[in-house]
Amino acid sequence: MKLRLHFVVDPMGWFCMSMVLFVWLYNSFLIPKLVLLPHYAEGHIPAAFVVFYYLASLLCVSALFRASTADPGKLAQDPKIPLAERDNWELCNKCNIMRPKRSHHCSRCGHCVRRMDHHCPWINNCVGEDNHWLFLQLCFYTQVLSLYTLVLDFCQYYYFQPLSSVDRADIEVRHELALLRGSCFMGLIMFGGMSSLFYTQVKGILADATTIEKMSHLLEDIGPRRSWQQAMAEVFGTRWKILWFLPFRSRQPLRLNLTSRSHV
Ligand SMILES: [Zn+2]
Ligand SMILES: [Zn+2]
Repeated sequence: MKLRLHFVVDPMGWFCMSMVLFVWLYNSFLIPKLVLLPHYAEGHIPAAFVVFYYLASLLCVSALFRASTADPGKLAQDPKIPLAERDNWELCNKCNIMRPKRSHHCSRCGHCVRRMDHHCPWINNCVGEDNHWLFLQLCFYTQVLSLYTLVLDFCQYYYFQPLSSVDRADIEVRHELALLRGSCFMGLIMFGGMSSLFYTQVKGILADATTIEKMSHLLEDIGPRRSWQQAMAEVFGTRWKILWFLPFRSRQPLRLNLTSRSHV
């Protein structure tokens, strides 16, 4: 797999992304230290609970890394336009290059992106044709991780047996209640925000409409109806559903002519 990194120079985006990384670090450190590992050591929970948490955490941060550093579909300065697709290309009046219809010029990144959905400051990158699948994975794994964190916070308060062998002098143990409340607060915000975002993203994919197109009301020409499997396979670049969940792979477009419908 070729891993070409794409970095956007934007201090505002770096700030937003640091906040996301802080939430991930806080919970990925605190929950195993305060809840999972001590209860596993005392035989209250099976090892699978711990492994699943680390796996969800790893997949979540991998999807974040890949979504923020993958090329979203930046247009080349001198693109080779296939003869059959000439009618589907147009000139961008901001960067003065030819681009396929449904591309959009991102003013934050300063270039055009193929089938751009939106610019996301939380990943400090555009969401476009080539990294939309990674953005969906990020929404999905963040929901899984934040929901699991909330369940564990709840169990620690109300359900798990008290621990008999914790170090009471440990700073995290002394401030356990406040730290778990912080975790609950972050979990609720992340789960609520990501669930609604994931729902609107999937709805847009099924309707074959980007966020920018929906906001601009430029959906006059709805294409042929596709099954949800076909719509998702086009975004993820594969019909193999198991691969939809893997962040470390390269994506090959399934349908070449994504440009034949409405445009912004
Ligand atoms: Zn442009
Ligand atoms: Zn952008």
